Amino acid sequence: MPLTGIEIFKLLPKTNCGECGVPTCLAFAMNMASGKVELSACPYVSEEARVKLEEASAPPILPVTIGVGDRALKIGGETVMFRHEKRFENPPGLAILISDTMADAEINARLEKCQQLQYQRVGITLRPELVAVKCESGDAVKFEAVVNKVKQNSDCGIILMSTNPDILAAGLKVCADRKPLLYAATEDNLDKVASLARESSCPVAVKASSLEGLAQLTGKLTEVGIKNIVLDSGSRTIRQAFEDQVIIRSSALNNKFRPLGFPTITFPGEMTDNPMKEAVIASIFVAKYGGIIVLSDFQGESLFPLLVERMNIYTDPQRPLATAEGIYEINNPDENSPVLITSNFSLTYFIVSGEIENSKVPSWLLVKDTEGLSVLTAWAAGKFSADIIAPFVKKCGIEDKVKNHKLVIPGYLAPESGGLEEELPGWEILVGPREGAHIPAYLKAWKP
Ligand code: SF4
Repeated sequence: MPLTGIEIFKLLPKTNCGECGVPTCLAFAMNMASGKVELSACPYVSEEARVKLEEASAPPILPVTIGVGDRALKIGGETVMFRHEKRFENPPGLAILISDTMADAEINARLEKCQQLQYQRVGITLRPELVAVKCESGDAVKFEAVVNKVKQNSDCGIILMSTNPDILAAGLKVCADRKPLLYAATEDNLDKVASLARESSCPVAVKASSLEGLAQLTGKLTEVGIKNIVLDSGSRTIRQAFEDQVIIRSSALNNKFRPLGFPTITFPGEMTDNPMKEAVIASIFVAKYGGIIVLSDFQGESLFPLLVERMNIYTDPQRPLATAEGIYEINNPDENSPVLITSNFSLTYFIVSGEIENSKVPSWLLVKDTEGLSVLTAWAAGKFSADIIAPFVKKCGIEDKVKNHKLVIPGYLAPESGGLEEELPGWEILVGPREGAHIPAYLKAWKP
Protein backbone atom coordinates (compact mmCIF):
# COMPACT_ATOMS: atom_id res chain seq x y z
CA MET A 1 0.00 0.00 0.00
CA PRO A 2 1.50 3.39 -0.96
CA LEU A 3 2.41 5.70 1.91
CA THR A 4 0.47 8.88 2.65
CA GLY A 5 2.09 12.31 2.58
CA ILE A 6 2.32 12.39 6.38
CA GLU A 7 3.88 8.92 6.49
CA ILE A 8 6.44 10.01 3.92
CA PHE A 9 7.11 13.20 5.87
CA LYS A 10 7.96 11.18 9.00
CA LEU A 11 10.78 9.48 7.07
CA LEU A 12 12.31 12.66 5.63
CA PRO A 13 15.18 14.61 7.33
CA LYS A 14 12.83 17.52 8.26
CA THR A 15 15.57 20.13 7.80
CA ASN A 16 13.54 22.16 5.29
CA CYS A 17 16.72 22.93 3.35
CA GLY A 18 14.83 23.48 0.11
CA GLU A 19 17.32 21.70 -2.16
CA CYS A 20 14.55 19.54 -3.61
CA GLY A 21 12.91 22.61 -5.17
CA VAL A 22 10.17 23.16 -2.58
CA PRO A 23 10.66 25.09 0.69
CA THR A 24 9.73 22.37 3.19
CA CYS A 25 10.01 18.63 3.69
CA LEU A 26 6.23 18.53 4.21
CA ALA A 27 5.58 20.06 0.79
CA PHE A 28 8.01 17.59 -0.72
CA ALA A 29 6.25 14.70 1.02
CA MET A 30 2.86 15.83 -0.28
CA ASN A 31 4.22 16.12 -3.81
CA MET A 32 5.77 12.71 -3.56
CA ALA A 33 2.56 11.12 -2.32
CA SER A 34 0.73 12.51 -5.34
CA GLY A 35 3.43 11.25 -7.72
CA LYS A 36 4.66 14.71 -8.73
CA VAL A 37 8.29 14.23 -7.65
CA GLU A 38 10.81 11.42 -7.37
CA LEU A 39 12.51 10.52 -4.13
CA SER A 40 15.88 11.09 -5.80
CA ALA A 41 15.16 14.86 -5.65
CA CYS A 42 16.05 14.81 -1.92
CA PRO A 43 19.78 14.16 -1.49
CA TYR A 44 19.61 13.77 2.30
CA VAL A 45 17.23 10.88 2.81
CA SER A 46 18.74 7.95 4.78
CA GLU A 47 19.23 4.53 3.22
CA GLU A 48 16.73 2.97 5.61
CA ALA A 49 14.11 5.58 4.76
CA ARG A 50 14.90 5.22 1.06
CA VAL A 51 13.94 1.54 1.08
CA LYS A 52 10.62 2.32 2.76
CA LEU A 53 9.93 5.31 0.54
CA GLU A 54 10.51 3.42 -2.69
CA GLU A 55 7.17 1.83 -2.04
CA ALA A 56 5.55 5.27 -1.96
CA SER A 57 7.00 6.39 -5.25
CA ALA A 58 6.27 3.15 -7.15
CA PRO A 59 3.38 3.45 -9.60
CA PRO A 60 0.34 1.28 -8.77
CA ILE A 61 1.02 -0.81 -11.89
CA LEU A 62 4.72 -1.61 -11.71
CA PRO A 63 6.75 -1.11 -14.88
CA VAL A 64 8.29 -4.18 -16.54
CA THR A 65 10.99 -4.16 -19.21
CA ILE A 66 11.36 -6.91 -21.79
CA GLY A 67 14.49 -7.00 -23.93
CA VAL A 68 17.61 -4.84 -23.88
CA GLY A 69 19.10 -1.79 -25.58
CA ASP A 70 17.22 0.34 -28.11
CA ARG A 71 14.58 -2.31 -28.69
CA ALA A 72 13.76 -2.86 -25.03
CA LEU A 73 10.03 -2.62 -24.38
CA LYS A 74 8.76 -1.03 -21.20
CA ILE A 75 5.18 -1.79 -20.23
CA GLY A 76 3.09 -0.99 -17.15
CA GLY A 77 3.93 2.02 -14.99
CA GLU A 78 0.34 3.19 -15.39
CA THR A 79 -1.21 5.59 -12.92
CA VAL A 80 -4.69 6.37 -14.24
CA MET A 81 -7.84 4.54 -15.32
CA PHE A 82 -8.69 7.03 -18.04
CA ARG A 83 -6.37 8.75 -20.46
CA HIS A 84 -7.88 12.22 -19.94
CA GLU A 85 -7.06 12.10 -16.19
CA LYS A 86 -3.35 12.44 -16.98
CA ARG A 87 -1.99 10.19 -19.72
CA PHE A 88 -1.29 6.53 -20.37
CA GLU A 89 2.42 5.93 -19.93
CA ASN A 90 3.75 2.89 -21.79
CA PRO A 91 2.09 1.56 -24.95
CA PRO A 92 1.32 -2.17 -25.05
CA GLY A 93 3.77 -4.35 -26.95
CA LEU A 94 2.43 -6.15 -30.01
CA ALA A 95 3.75 -9.69 -30.49
CA ILE A 96 3.57 -12.17 -33.34
CA LEU A 97 3.23 -15.84 -32.46
CA ILE A 98 5.74 -18.38 -33.76
CA SER A 99 5.28 -22.04 -32.91
CA ASP A 100 8.19 -24.47 -32.89
CA THR A 101 6.01 -26.83 -34.96
CA MET A 102 5.82 -24.37 -37.87
CA ALA A 103 7.76 -25.08 -41.05
CA ASP A 104 10.99 -23.15 -41.52
CA ALA A 105 9.51 -21.17 -44.41
CA GLU A 106 6.60 -20.00 -42.25
CA ILE A 107 8.91 -19.02 -39.40
CA ASN A 108 11.14 -17.10 -41.82
CA ALA A 109 8.12 -15.33 -43.32
CA ARG A 110 6.90 -14.26 -39.88
CA LEU A 111 10.31 -12.99 -38.85
CA GLU A 112 10.49 -11.06 -42.09
CA LYS A 113 7.13 -9.45 -41.34
CA CYS A 114 8.44 -8.30 -37.96
CA GLN A 115 11.25 -6.46 -39.68
CA GLN A 116 9.29 -5.22 -42.70
CA LEU A 117 6.01 -4.03 -41.21
CA GLN A 118 7.13 -0.58 -40.10
CA TYR A 119 5.35 2.67 -40.82
CA GLN A 120 6.27 6.34 -40.56
CA ARG A 121 3.54 8.58 -39.24
CA VAL A 122 3.87 12.15 -37.96
CA GLY A 123 7.62 11.60 -37.69
CA ILE A 124 7.29 8.49 -35.52
CA THR A 125 8.21 4.95 -36.54
CA LEU A 126 5.37 2.58 -35.78
CA ARG A 127 6.31 -1.08 -35.52
CA PRO A 128 5.59 -4.19 -33.46
CA GLU A 129 8.05 -5.09 -30.73
CA LEU A 130 7.85 -8.75 -29.78
CA VAL A 131 8.04 -12.32 -31.02
CA ALA A 132 6.32 -14.95 -28.89
CA VAL A 133 7.95 -18.34 -29.41
CA LYS A 134 5.63 -21.10 -28.30
CA CYS A 135 6.71 -24.66 -27.64
CA GLU A 136 4.04 -26.96 -29.05
CA SER A 137 6.39 -29.79 -29.95
CA GLY A 138 7.28 -30.68 -26.37
CA ASP A 139 10.86 -31.02 -27.64
CA ALA A 140 13.37 -28.80 -25.80
CA VAL A 141 16.02 -29.17 -28.53
CA LYS A 142 13.60 -28.10 -31.25
CA PHE A 143 12.38 -25.18 -29.17
CA GLU A 144 15.93 -24.04 -28.50
CA ALA A 145 16.70 -24.12 -32.25
CA VAL A 146 13.65 -21.99 -33.08
CA VAL A 147 14.44 -19.50 -30.30
CA ASN A 148 17.97 -19.26 -31.68
CA LYS A 149 16.62 -18.59 -35.18
CA VAL A 150 14.38 -15.83 -33.81
CA LYS A 151 17.26 -14.32 -31.93
CA GLN A 152 19.54 -14.35 -34.97
CA ASN A 153 16.97 -12.95 -37.41
CA SER A 154 15.06 -10.39 -35.40
CA ASP A 155 15.86 -7.50 -33.12
CA CYS A 156 12.45 -7.80 -31.45
CA GLY A 157 11.99 -8.69 -27.80
CA ILE A 158 11.30 -12.38 -27.16
CA ILE A 159 8.60 -14.18 -25.19
CA LEU A 160 9.41 -17.80 -24.35
CA MET A 161 6.16 -19.78 -24.09
CA SER A 162 5.96 -23.08 -22.25
CA THR A 163 4.77 -24.26 -18.88
CA ASN A 164 7.62 -26.78 -18.76
CA PRO A 165 10.55 -25.22 -16.85
CA ASP A 166 13.06 -27.45 -18.68
CA ILE A 167 11.86 -26.15 -22.04
CA LEU A 168 11.95 -22.55 -20.82
CA ALA A 169 15.50 -23.21 -19.61
CA ALA A 170 16.46 -24.51 -23.06
CA GLY A 171 15.13 -21.33 -24.67
CA LEU A 172 16.83 -19.16 -22.08
CA LYS A 173 20.15 -20.87 -22.79
CA VAL A 174 20.32 -19.14 -26.18
CA CYS A 175 18.64 -15.81 -25.48
CA ALA A 176 19.09 -14.95 -21.79
CA ASP A 177 21.18 -11.95 -22.85
CA ARG A 178 18.10 -10.55 -24.62
CA LYS A 179 16.13 -10.65 -21.34
CA PRO A 180 13.07 -12.45 -22.70
CA LEU A 181 9.74 -12.72 -20.90
CA LEU A 182 9.26 -16.20 -19.42
CA TYR A 183 5.68 -17.33 -20.02
CA ALA A 184 4.39 -18.79 -17.81
CA ALA A 185 4.68 -19.54 -14.13
CA THR A 186 1.64 -21.41 -12.89
CA GLU A 187 0.57 -23.03 -9.63
CA ASP A 188 2.26 -26.26 -10.74
CA ASN A 189 5.66 -24.93 -11.81
CA LEU A 190 5.99 -21.74 -9.78
CA ASP A 191 9.14 -22.57 -7.83
CA LYS A 192 11.12 -23.76 -10.83
CA VAL A 193 10.10 -20.92 -13.14
CA ALA A 194 10.72 -18.42 -10.32
CA SER A 195 14.26 -19.82 -10.00
CA LEU A 196 14.81 -19.39 -13.74
CA ALA A 197 13.56 -15.80 -13.58
CA ARG A 198 15.73 -14.98 -10.59
CA GLU A 199 18.89 -16.57 -11.94
CA SER A 200 18.53 -14.94 -15.38
CA SER A 201 17.06 -11.62 -14.12
CA CYS A 202 14.31 -12.00 -16.71
CA PRO A 203 10.70 -10.88 -16.35
CA VAL A 204 8.15 -13.61 -15.80
CA ALA A 205 4.47 -13.96 -16.68
CA VAL A 206 2.14 -15.71 -14.25
CA LYS A 207 -0.96 -17.53 -15.41
CA ALA A 208 -3.90 -18.64 -13.29
CA SER A 209 -7.52 -19.48 -13.90
CA SER A 210 -8.85 -16.73 -11.64
CA LEU A 211 -7.81 -13.33 -10.35
CA GLU A 212 -7.60 -14.73 -6.81
CA GLY A 213 -5.22 -17.43 -8.05
CA LEU A 214 -3.20 -14.80 -9.88
CA ALA A 215 -2.88 -12.66 -6.74
CA GLN A 216 -1.65 -15.68 -4.76
CA LEU A 217 1.02 -16.44 -7.36
CA THR A 218 2.29 -12.85 -7.58
CA GLY A 219 2.36 -12.74 -3.77
CA LYS A 220 4.67 -15.76 -3.72
CA LEU A 221 6.91 -14.27 -6.41
CA THR A 222 7.25 -10.91 -4.69
CA GLU A 223 8.08 -12.69 -1.43
CA VAL A 224 11.18 -14.12 -3.11
CA GLY A 225 12.11 -10.72 -4.54
CA ILE A 226 10.67 -11.02 -8.09
CA LYS A 227 8.87 -7.86 -9.16
CA ASN A 228 9.14 -7.99 -12.96
CA ILE A 229 5.82 -9.75 -13.36
CA VAL A 230 3.24 -9.85 -16.14
CA LEU A 231 -0.30 -11.14 -15.51
CA ASP A 232 -2.38 -13.59 -17.54
CA SER A 233 -5.78 -14.12 -15.94
CA GLY A 234 -6.34 -17.15 -18.15
CA SER A 235 -9.61 -15.84 -19.66
CA ARG A 236 -10.06 -16.66 -23.32
CA THR A 237 -13.51 -15.19 -23.98
CA ILE A 238 -13.74 -11.54 -24.97
CA ARG A 239 -16.13 -10.57 -22.23
CA GLN A 240 -14.26 -12.27 -19.40
CA ALA A 241 -10.85 -11.14 -20.63
CA PHE A 242 -12.09 -7.56 -20.95
CA GLU A 243 -13.62 -7.63 -17.46
CA ASP A 244 -10.39 -9.02 -16.06
CA GLN A 245 -8.38 -6.18 -17.62
CA VAL A 246 -10.65 -3.58 -16.05
CA ILE A 247 -10.75 -5.30 -12.64
CA ILE A 248 -6.97 -5.71 -12.56
CA ARG A 249 -6.40 -2.04 -13.40
CA SER A 250 -9.06 -0.87 -10.98
CA SER A 251 -7.86 -3.11 -8.13
CA ALA A 252 -4.33 -1.76 -8.45
CA LEU A 253 -5.27 1.89 -8.89
CA ASN A 254 -8.42 2.39 -6.91
CA ASN A 255 -8.02 -0.25 -4.20
CA LYS A 256 -4.21 -0.08 -4.03
CA PHE A 257 -4.13 -3.88 -4.27
CA ARG A 258 -0.46 -4.58 -4.93
CA PRO A 259 -0.75 -8.29 -5.90
CA LEU A 260 -2.53 -7.21 -9.12
CA GLY A 261 -0.35 -4.14 -9.69
CA PHE A 262 1.42 -5.47 -12.79
CA PRO A 263 0.95 -5.16 -16.55
CA THR A 264 -1.00 -7.87 -18.36
CA ILE A 265 -0.61 -10.12 -21.39
CA THR A 266 -3.54 -10.97 -23.67
CA PHE A 267 -4.09 -13.45 -26.50
CA PRO A 268 -6.77 -12.28 -28.98
CA GLY A 269 -5.73 -15.13 -31.30
CA GLU A 270 -6.96 -17.62 -28.70
CA MET A 271 -10.39 -15.95 -28.61
CA THR A 272 -11.32 -16.34 -32.28
CA ASP A 273 -10.22 -17.99 -35.53
CA ASN A 274 -11.28 -14.99 -37.59
CA PRO A 275 -8.31 -12.69 -38.32
CA MET A 276 -10.40 -9.52 -38.59
CA LYS A 277 -12.26 -10.30 -35.38
CA GLU A 278 -8.90 -10.94 -33.75
CA ALA A 279 -7.77 -7.46 -34.81
CA VAL A 280 -10.94 -5.94 -33.34
CA ILE A 281 -10.38 -7.77 -30.04
CA ALA A 282 -6.77 -6.60 -30.05
CA SER A 283 -7.97 -3.03 -30.53
CA ILE A 284 -10.08 -3.39 -27.36
CA PHE A 285 -7.00 -4.40 -25.39
CA VAL A 286 -4.98 -1.53 -26.85
CA ALA A 287 -7.54 0.81 -25.29
CA LYS A 288 -8.19 -1.22 -22.10
CA TYR A 289 -5.65 -2.23 -20.68
CA GLY A 290 -3.38 -4.78 -22.31
CA GLY A 291 0.33 -4.65 -21.52
CA ILE A 292 1.24 -7.16 -24.24
CA ILE A 293 -1.05 -8.27 -27.05
CA VAL A 294 -0.04 -11.51 -28.76
CA LEU A 295 -1.44 -11.87 -32.29
CA SER A 296 -1.62 -15.17 -34.16
CA ASP A 297 -0.05 -13.44 -37.19
CA PHE A 298 0.71 -9.97 -38.55
CA GLN A 299 -1.16 -8.60 -41.57
CA GLY A 300 -0.40 -5.07 -42.69
CA GLU A 301 -4.08 -4.16 -43.07
CA SER A 302 -4.84 -5.00 -39.43
CA LEU A 303 -1.47 -4.23 -37.84
CA PHE A 304 -1.29 -0.66 -39.15
CA PRO A 305 -4.65 0.44 -37.65
CA LEU A 306 -3.63 -1.13 -34.34
CA LEU A 307 -0.34 0.74 -34.35
CA VAL A 308 -2.08 4.02 -35.15
CA GLU A 309 -4.72 3.42 -32.48
CA ARG A 310 -1.97 2.69 -29.98
CA MET A 311 -0.06 5.83 -30.91
CA ASN A 312 -3.16 7.99 -30.58
CA ILE A 313 -4.18 6.58 -27.22
CA TYR A 314 -0.71 6.79 -25.72
CA THR A 315 0.07 10.37 -26.69
CA ASP A 316 -0.23 12.96 -23.96
CA PRO A 317 -3.72 14.50 -24.34
CA GLN A 318 -2.45 17.73 -22.77
CA ARG A 319 0.49 18.14 -25.13
CA PRO A 320 0.09 18.32 -28.90
CA LEU A 321 2.56 16.40 -31.04
CA ALA A 322 5.12 18.91 -32.24
CA THR A 323 7.84 19.04 -34.88
CA ALA A 324 11.21 20.72 -34.30
CA GLU A 325 11.50 24.37 -35.31
CA GLY A 326 13.79 24.96 -38.28
CA ILE A 327 14.29 25.01 -42.03
CA TYR A 328 13.12 21.91 -43.93
CA GLU A 329 14.33 21.21 -47.48
CA ILE A 330 11.76 19.52 -49.67
CA ASN A 331 12.45 18.27 -53.24
CA ASN A 332 16.05 19.64 -53.21
CA PRO A 333 15.43 23.39 -53.21
CA ASP A 334 17.95 26.00 -54.43
CA GLU A 335 18.37 29.75 -54.06
CA ASN A 336 15.41 30.45 -56.37
CA SER A 337 12.96 28.11 -54.67
CA PRO A 338 9.88 29.37 -52.83
CA VAL A 339 9.93 29.75 -49.04
CA LEU A 340 6.81 28.71 -47.14
CA ILE A 341 6.14 28.93 -43.42
CA THR A 342 3.89 26.93 -41.14
CA SER A 343 3.41 26.06 -37.47
CA ASN A 344 5.02 23.12 -35.67
CA PHE A 345 1.85 21.17 -34.90
CA SER A 346 2.93 17.78 -36.23
CA LEU A 347 -0.23 17.11 -38.18
CA THR A 348 0.01 20.53 -39.84
CA TYR A 349 3.68 19.98 -40.64
CA PHE A 350 3.11 16.56 -42.16
CA ILE A 351 0.14 17.71 -44.24
CA VAL A 352 1.99 20.78 -45.54
CA SER A 353 5.29 18.98 -46.17
CA GLY A 354 3.43 16.08 -47.80
CA GLU A 355 1.58 18.41 -50.16
CA ILE A 356 4.80 20.25 -51.06
CA GLU A 357 6.42 16.91 -51.75
CA ASN A 358 3.46 15.90 -53.94
CA SER A 359 3.81 19.12 -55.93
CA LYS A 360 7.37 18.08 -56.89
CA VAL A 361 8.29 21.79 -56.68
CA PRO A 362 11.62 22.26 -54.84
CA SER A 363 10.78 24.37 -51.78
CA TRP A 364 11.98 25.59 -48.41
CA LEU A 365 9.60 25.07 -45.53
CA LEU A 366 10.11 27.13 -42.37
CA VAL A 367 8.58 25.56 -39.28
CA LYS A 368 8.02 27.98 -36.42
CA ASP A 369 7.69 26.69 -32.85
CA THR A 370 4.10 27.51 -31.90
CA GLU A 371 4.11 25.14 -28.91
CA GLY A 372 2.51 22.46 -31.03
CA LEU A 373 -0.53 24.56 -31.96
CA SER A 374 -2.03 24.52 -35.46
CA VAL A 375 -1.86 27.64 -37.63
CA LEU A 376 -5.21 29.17 -36.77
CA THR A 377 -5.08 28.23 -33.07
CA ALA A 378 -1.53 29.57 -32.76
CA TRP A 379 -2.51 32.80 -34.49
CA ALA A 380 -5.57 33.22 -32.24
CA ALA A 381 -3.34 32.60 -29.20
CA GLY A 382 -0.86 35.26 -30.33
CA LYS A 383 1.90 32.71 -31.00
CA PHE A 384 2.02 33.02 -34.79
CA SER A 385 1.77 36.72 -35.50
CA ALA A 386 3.99 39.10 -37.50
CA ASP A 387 6.07 40.20 -34.50
CA ILE A 388 6.86 36.55 -33.71
CA ILE A 389 7.35 35.26 -37.25
CA ALA A 390 9.62 38.10 -38.40
CA PRO A 391 12.43 37.60 -35.84
CA PHE A 392 12.35 33.87 -36.58
CA VAL A 393 12.72 34.45 -40.34
CA LYS A 394 15.64 36.83 -39.73
CA LYS A 395 17.45 34.47 -37.34
CA CYS A 396 16.77 31.03 -38.84
CA GLY A 397 19.31 31.44 -41.65
CA ILE A 398 16.94 31.27 -44.63
CA GLU A 399 18.12 34.68 -45.88
CA ASP A 400 21.53 33.15 -46.67
CA LYS A 401 19.97 30.30 -48.63
CA VAL A 402 17.72 32.20 -51.05
CA LYS A 403 18.10 35.12 -53.43
CA ASN A 404 14.40 35.28 -53.81
CA HIS A 405 13.00 36.93 -50.70
CA LYS A 406 9.38 35.91 -51.09
CA LEU A 407 7.67 34.35 -48.10
CA VAL A 408 4.48 32.33 -48.58
CA ILE A 409 2.33 32.45 -45.45
CA PRO A 410 -0.70 30.22 -44.79
CA GLY A 411 -3.98 31.66 -46.08
CA TYR A 412 -5.30 31.87 -42.52
CA LEU A 413 -2.48 34.31 -41.69
CA ALA A 414 -3.58 36.84 -44.34
CA PRO A 415 -4.31 39.49 -41.64
CA GLU A 416 -0.59 39.35 -40.70
CA SER A 417 0.71 40.07 -44.21
CA GLY A 418 0.83 43.86 -43.73
CA GLY A 419 2.61 43.53 -40.40
CA LEU A 420 5.10 41.11 -41.90
CA GLU A 421 5.87 43.47 -44.80
CA GLU A 422 6.77 46.09 -42.17
CA GLU A 423 8.74 43.73 -39.92
CA LEU A 424 10.59 42.08 -42.80
CA PRO A 425 11.87 44.82 -45.09
CA GLY A 426 13.23 43.29 -48.28
CA TRP A 427 10.76 40.40 -48.18
CA GLU A 428 7.64 40.16 -50.29
CA ILE A 429 4.84 38.48 -48.36
CA LEU A 430 2.57 36.22 -50.40
CA VAL A 431 -0.63 34.78 -49.00
CA GLY A 432 -0.79 31.08 -49.81
CA PRO A 433 -3.73 28.68 -49.74
CA ARG A 434 -5.81 28.12 -46.64
CA GLU A 435 -5.96 24.37 -47.14
CA GLY A 436 -2.99 22.06 -47.57
CA ALA A 437 -4.69 20.27 -50.46
CA HIS A 438 -4.41 23.44 -52.56
CA ILE A 439 -0.65 23.82 -52.06
CA PRO A 440 0.45 21.73 -55.11
CA ALA A 441 -1.61 23.83 -57.54
CA TYR A 442 -0.37 27.03 -55.89
CA LEU A 443 3.28 26.00 -56.09
CA LYS A 444 3.05 24.81 -59.67
CA ALA A 445 1.82 28.26 -60.64
CA TRP A 446 4.45 30.01 -58.52
CA LYS A 447 7.01 32.14 -60.37
CA PRO A 448 10.31 33.31 -58.79
FE1 SF4 B 1 13.51 18.21 3.03
FE2 SF4 B 1 15.09 16.75 1.44
FE3 SF4 B 1 13.65 18.74 0.43
FE4 SF4 B 1 15.70 19.31 2.01
S1 SF4 B 1 15.82 18.31 0.03
S2 SF4 B 1 13.63 20.22 2.05
S3 SF4 B 1 15.63 17.60 3.44
S4 SF4 B 1 12.88 16.89 1.37
